[in-house]
Amino acid sequence: MKNEKRKGKLFVISGCSGVGKGTLLKVFLEKNPQIELSISATTRKPRPGEVDGVNYFFLTKEEFETAVKNNEFLEWAEFNGNFYGTKEAYVEKKLNEGKNVILEIETRGAFQIKEKKPDVVLIFILPPSLDELEHRLRGRNTEDEAAIQNRLHEAYRELECSKKYDYCIVNDDLNQAVKELEEVICS
Ligand code: 5GP
Repeated sequence: MKNEKRKGKLFVISGCSGVGKGTLLKVFLEKNPQIELSISATTRKPRPGEVDGVNYFFLTKEEFETAVKNNEFLEWAEFNGNFYGTKEAYVEKKLNEGKNVILEIETRGAFQIKEKKPDVVLIFILPPSLDELEHRLRGRNTEDEAAIQNRLHEAYRELECSKKYDYCIVNDDLNQAVKELEEVICS
């Protein structure tokens, strides 16, 4: 029998802005350090505390466009006026090492990946309610009203897309949501 290393599995996690994806993923990854979270490239400016090569690879628009032209992205999309993308070589290297990889990306990118890699598992994180989502978005206090309205508009569009995902997890009780994520990813 050939001694081939098992290839890792690919998971996509999406969810509207303000749904608590970040905290959910943080707790999940602390409990499951064998799972890799992919680092995306973006043209968005770093927020306070964000570090290049840790949270994102922060690129200029020109650098991003060159990478698009060179077909370096497994998927990419424009979101809220900024570009975001997943470098194919980065993800393939981890999968070839046998690692299970999570991409935390928005819905257009998720569907591009499903086209290219039908085995990918798409997971959508839902808010307990739309009121709660708006409350959480406003509670962040990092953006002006126009930006919040934009994010809400995107959130409603993304909620529609959740119907095409393989799994939906409601992030109401954090521990319960982590447990459900483990059931999908680790079993
Ligand atoms: P934020 O600017 O709040 O970090 O992210 C905005 C949105 O971009 C989120 O919905 C996040 O999931 C998405 N995103 C982050 N990285 C990528 C990526 O590589 N590709 C795509 N398509 N979306 C991404």
